[in-house]
This record gives sequence, C-alpha cells and structure tokens, in this order.
Amino acid sequence: MTSRTPLAPRLPSPLQEVGDERFGRHGLRLLLKRDDLIHPDLIGNKWRKLVPNIEAAHGRPLVTFGGAYSNHLRATAAAGRLLGLPTTGVVRGQELAGRPLNPSLARCAADGMRLHFVDRSTYRHKTEPRTLAAILRAAGAEEAYVVPEGGSNSAAVHGCRALGEELRGHAGVVAVACGTGGTLAGLAAGLAAGQRALGVPVLRGGFLERDIQQLQERAFGARTGSWSLDERFHFGGYARTTPELHAFAEDFERRHGLPVERLYVAKLLYGLVALADEGAFPRGTTIAAVVTGRPFAEDRA
Ligand SMILES: *Cc1c(COP(=O)(O)O)cnc(C)c1O
Repeated sequence: MTSRTPLAPRLPSPLQEVGDERFGRHGLRLLLKRDDLIHPDLIGNKWRKLVPNIEAAHGRPLVTFGGAYSNHLRATAAAGRLLGLPTTGVVRGQELAGRPLNPSLARCAADGMRLHFVDRSTYRHKTEPRTLAAILRAAGAEEAYVVPEGGSNSAAVHGCRALGEELRGHAGVVAVACGTGGTLAGLAAGLAAGQRALGVPVLRGGFLERDIQQLQERAFGARTGSWSLDERFHFGGYARTTPELHAFAEDFERRHGLPVERLYVAKLLYGLVALADEGAFPRGTTIAAVVTGRPFAEDRA
C-alpha cells in the first residue's frame, strides 16, 4: 500500500476550544473540529469522502464533476498527482472552454487533471445514465471510476461517519456547512445518542433535507441519527458572499488566528453566532463547529 502513503491523514483531526464571548455570555462553549488539518492537499471533508472512493476505484482513472471553483475538483486532481492516477474533471459551463483558466482550474490542470467543459443543461442531467454515458464518451473517460459531484455517494457518507465517531462525548451539538450534504449525512450517523448534528446549507433552494435523507437511506438503509438544517445563512447562494460576511470572517480570523474559508466555513460560523444570540442553544451546551476547509491560497493574493 506504499502507493497510498502520500494520502496518509492526521486523524483524529484536532479538537480545539476557543474562548469567544459571543458564546461565553450565553453559557456556551465553542470547539473547532480542525478537519482542515487532515491532509495538506485533500482538505477537510474532501479527504474523508475521496479516500473511500479511491479505494473502491482499485487503481482505475477517476472522473468527477464540479463548478469552476470546486474544492472537490482540486482535491481530486491533487489525489491524482499524489497517486499517479489519471483524473478527468467535468466542469460546468461550456463558455469556460478556450478561456484562460481561473486559479482553481489552473491548479487542477497543473496537477494533471484533464478538464472537459459541458454546457449547463448537460451538466444538470449528468446523473441520467444516457447523459452520463455521452459525457464520458466525449471526455474519453469511459473506463474511469465515476465519483459524483462533490464526491457524495455511499462510500463518502460511510467515510464521514468517522467524523461523528471522533466527536462522541465531546459536544452536544455538532455543526457543519453543507453543499451536497454528504458530510452531514455521515457525521450524523456517527454521533452517539443524545448528540445532534446541525447543518447550514450554503446553497439556496430547500432541497437538501430530501437529498441528505436519500444519501442516508442509500448508505445505511434509513434516516439515521438526529439532525436538522437551518436554511437562513446561505448569503444569496453558492459562492455568494457579502461585505458583512467578509467582515465577520476577518474579525474571526483576528480573534482566533483561524484562516476562515469564505464559501462554507464563514457561513457556518456566522450562523452559529446568530443562533447563540437568538438563544437557540440551552446554557451549558458545547458546540463543535467542523472546520471543513481553509481558504484557497490564490483567492487571497
Ligand atoms: C465541499 C465542502 C463542503 C461541503 O461538503 P458536502 O459534503 O458537499 O456537504 C463544506 N465545506 C468545505 C470547505 C468544502 O470544501
């Protein structure tokens, strides 16, 4: 298994208490579950979701899907470089083809990922068997192992169960930002009785409750664990931010020295401060916020 040592993780990821009076004054403790420290290139939940899929691929090339700024595409490309595995990224947006690559896609390409751009309508239908087959044929990836968008399938959900297990006995509430919801689906299943998981979706739409339930039904046979979503903190939708969110994140970085990823982690932490203020958590509650990522270096340049 020497070929897999480049993906060796730091697990369990560190759990750190931070003193923050916005929680302290309500009798709450805040812990940070530092999944951003699991691996330098497969960051946070991306390691937990991707490694089980790489094992299932048994050395086949990987093909996966994402938007132009997808953390999942970057993680997959990095895994390909580290393992010497060919990767193909199917990217949403035909109009991006032939233009200079943005920093995120440039990183994917530098890691050896072949990029295949598809129009938005094709992308939307990519899980339908005929559309998928056509995409794979056009991308020259018919033999590849297919990792779904965001990496969320049953293997990934099982991988994220370990995140919940690592947090048993440490917090009453475990909170995580949600994209596809695969991380929450696994996390909630790994917690002990009496612990609950709280998801903060970063996309608009209200479809995630159903998606997460489906992911759990496929992975575990039924809805599992105690979990709920608070849909109020998406800040306009995926990859949308506001000056208020940036100011909040900068302030959090100054207070605690934590680099705050803006598209997911900032929205989660903002939501937790708002909920604490609303009195949503009983005094004495310990809240663990999962730090699922860190800022992409090129974004800050
Ligand atoms: C991908 C990602 C998520 C979302 O994970 P899902 O399992 O798709 O819900 C959350 N935070 C960060 C930083 C991510 O990169």
